[in-house]
Amino acid sequence: MKELGPGECALPAAEFRFPVGETAGLAYAPRMRSWGELLGEPDAAPAAEEESGGRLFSRLRDSLSKSRRALTGELAAAAAFDPGDDADWERLEEALIAGDVGVRATAELVRRLEARGELTDLNAALAEEAAELFGEPPVLDLAHEPAVILVVGVNGTGKTTTIGKLSARLAEHGRSVVVAAADTYRAAAEEQLEIWAQRAGADFVGSERGADPAAVAYDGVEAAVARGRDVVIVDTAGRLHTQANLMEELAKVRRVIAGRLDGAPHETLLVVDATTGQNGVQQARLFGDAVGVTGVVLTKLDGSAKGGVAIPIAYELGLPVKLVGVGEALEDLQPFDPRDYARALVTD
Ligand code: GDP
Repeated sequence: MKELGPGECALPAAEFRFPVGETAGLAYAPRMRSWGELLGEPDAAPAAEEESGGRLFSRLRDSLSKSRRALTGELAAAAAFDPGDDADWERLEEALIAGDVGVRATAELVRRLEARGELTDLNAALAEEAAELFGEPPVLDLAHEPAVILVVGVNGTGKTTTIGKLSARLAEHGRSVVVAAADTYRAAAEEQLEIWAQRAGADFVGSERGADPAAVAYDGVEAAVARGRDVVIVDTAGRLHTQANLMEELAKVRRVIAGRLDGAPHETLLVVDATTGQNGVQQARLFGDAVGVTGVVLTKLDGSAKGGVAIPIAYELGLPVKLVGVGEALEDLQPFDPRDYARALVTD
């Protein structure tokens, strides 16, 4: 064999790599639910199998960094967790409650961790149990012609932005979209929505200011049926004089949609701003009770230390988180992946 001179390497350059698994961050293999999977497309693969998967997970992890610190900072600062020490369990409970996980979900997580007995890697175990509380990976039920998505939530939570991003993604996946602006109280919101609709190549159905929101929703469904479009997304008001008025109006919008199209709306997505923490959980409870929410979009995780709220929303209220907002760009609306989210929320 030829002797190596100074600076020469026995392997050709292409084979000379760091062993996989030894570089930081590779210990966990993200899955990243893809849009194809969320939309129930046959043979859809996880995003992690595409080049963008790792980048999307990094984006999620970065967005959850403040939440992760809020949730696990106190635990990490202490010495190793001792399952035999009551004080350690108390500290864990306090950390979870301070991290917006909520009393019932915290009690359930602690019960599950205690049942494990062995806890050498507390955070990894916590991530696994939190993923269980989230339930099955979500699907958007769009197998209808047309499918109707009603979008509800308090003003400022990110409804308009979410509808814009969602329309663009649906268009990328071959769905033709109609956006109906049934928030007839805010002229500026309608303009924004129209801009987003144009960008996404979606049809837009607007109205005169102060028009009946239910009539606009009806027109949106009507337009989609007449033109053979695949999906109608209906924006709604997020504030009225009283909460009872708002819920009555949303109920009317629902009734009118159902009257035009049997079984619709097929999805009612509630947009919740993650920075509002327990207030967001309260909103989810209210809307969930009043308007039959089928899924939650948790926005602004990138600016929030309260990403833990996803756990009580899913576990205590039984409302599946379907999408997360991790920034203002188009690709910053991601399908929710229970396992990856839990992992990014509690482990470094
Ligand atoms: P709406 O009143 O519910 O329709 O809320 P908008 O869609 O107008 O959003 C309110 C603000 O939140 C806008 O400035 C959006 O750009 C911003 N926003 C929405 N989603 C996100 C997100 O996931 N991350 C960040 N950083 N900002 C967001």
